[in-house]
Amino acid sequence: MSDRKRTYVVLLGVPGAGKGTQAKLLEQATGLPQVSTGDIFRYNLKNQTALGVLAKGYMDQGSLVPDDVTIRMVEDRLQMPDCAKGAIMDGFPRNLVQATAFEQMVAPYGGVSVAPLINVEDDETIRRITGRRTCRTCGTVYHLIFNPPLVEGVCDKDGGELYQRDDDYEATVRNRLFVYYKQTAPLVGYFYAKGLLTEVDGSKSIDAVQADLLALVKCK
Ligand code: ADP
Ligand code: ADP
Repeated sequence: MSDRKRTYVVLLGVPGAGKGTQAKLLEQATGLPQVSTGDIFRYNLKNQTALGVLAKGYMDQGSLVPDDVTIRMVEDRLQMPDCAKGAIMDGFPRNLVQATAFEQMVAPYGGVSVAPLINVEDDETIRRITGRRTCRTCGTVYHLIFNPPLVEGVCDKDGGELYQRDDDYEATVRNRLFVYYKQTAPLVGYFYAKGLLTEVDGSKSIDAVQADLLALVKCK
């Protein structure tokens, strides 16, 4: 093992559980970067790269982008200098193939540190996703009712336009939940068996969930 142990936090939870919101806050609190595969795909889509064009078809359906492409993308991202102390993983791994690939990537640095599962009921998650608004420039996430910006339609951080993601309408959300239960939910048992899973009550306020997560990350 390398002499430098890193901290890798794997946030688990249904789409809309609050992973992105919490990852951004953890990034501010710990200095570890948020690595969101969804954000990287959306960035590529905005810039019309080949990766973005490929990912779009899958994202519009709410299905997973193929593993080989996704795993290679994460490998590249984790080699960037800002990931030298670890990362907050948001949306990756999302199935068992990705989980085993991720474990191999981080094994030289002490492996996965903790895998918090943010628990939220399906009805609540649908309310959260359909009211979600995202900044077109920096990706900061708001909610029309639960976490509104100071000025409607405008990002508090950089003044960017807030938009509703193409995959945040109810029909696609239902497919994403289906994909989650079929492909991602097995990761709960996978990380539990390794002694890395900790459940967090995601129905609490954003600040309360953040306090619970920070306590977990700090003791790692
Ligand atoms: P995920 O990354 O898991 O899909 P997000 O962080 O994007 O979830 O959150 C989904 C929506 O729910 C966003 O609109 C966000 O503002 C809102 N949200 C996140 N956490 C909470 C919370 N604890 N209470 C109420 N709304 C929340
Ligand atoms: P949410 O925050 O609502 O869970 P994400 O931003 O994480 O949504 O993901 C949006 C879409 O991007 C997914 O529906 C999927 O098409 C694609 N995606 C994101 N992460 C992955 C991944 N690890 N593997 C495959 N596809 C992914």
